[in-house]
Amino acid sequence: MDYNFEKFKNQAIQLKITLTDEISNKLLIYYKTLIEYNQVMNLTAITEFDEVFEKHFLDSIVLADYIDLNRRIKLIDVGTGAGFPGIPLKIFFPDLNILLVDSLNKRVKFLNEVILRLELKNITAVHGRAEELARKKEYRNQFDLCVSRAVANLSCLSEYCIPFVKKGGIFAAYKSIDIDEEIDNSKNAICMLGGKLKSVNKFQLPDTEYYRSIVMIENVEEHTSKKYPRRAGIPNKQPLK
Ligand code: SAM
Repeated sequence: MDYNFEKFKNQAIQLKITLTDEISNKLLIYYKTLIEYNQVMNLTAITEFDEVFEKHFLDSIVLADYIDLNRRIKLIDVGTGAGFPGIPLKIFFPDLNILLVDSLNKRVKFLNEVILRLELKNITAVHGRAEELARKKEYRNQFDLCVSRAVANLSCLSEYCIPFVKKGGIFAAYKSIDIDEEIDNSKNAICMLGGKLKSVNKFQLPDTEYYRSIVMIENVEEHTSKKYPRRAGIPNKQPLK
């Protein structure tokens, strides 16, 4: 089967990102591994080549329009699932040092296989819940950047994510375009967690009909309050108000 990268190349250029042959090869191996494993485990509902490239790969790297990712910074992807946005970010921005986190172990096994097949360095996948990992010394307030897509509402997600971020670091939530009410409902939670709403970036993915947003929250405290995150399951059941 022939895979055409031209459209994706043009879409990436609009984000000022170059799609080299090496990157295209890696994306193709990732795509094929995703489709292969998707037969035996639930990884993605989207399987068609163009759609995976737009809705998963392009959507993952759009963050580069707002933050310089060509840096050796520590990034954590909370609830990465099949590796979004963490793996495409690593493929395009190899200087990033990435920790992928997911609470489903079979997805973590898939991620390890992808890391192996793509020969990616400085990227690790760990199995665990954000609420538990964020209490471990090696992860707590340690990351320059935390990203998360399609995991929970912004209040709950802030409780999962802000405790991983170091003072001055950013939590970037990948969200749909209709985000205003969710932001209003999580302002207090963000404040309790030591965060500060920095920007709400709404955009259309280049040459698509998909409208998305990225909400940026800065961690302004050295140490997140010991109260957070609460016990596993509580942030989702009883989001901070
Ligand atoms: N981020 C990926 C994406 O955008 O395609 C996956 C989204 S999927 C809908 C949500 C993922 O978050 C699942 O893989 C799930 O196992 C994981 N997850 C949910 N709650 C979690 C938690 N508390 N800690 C870690 N992972 C969690």
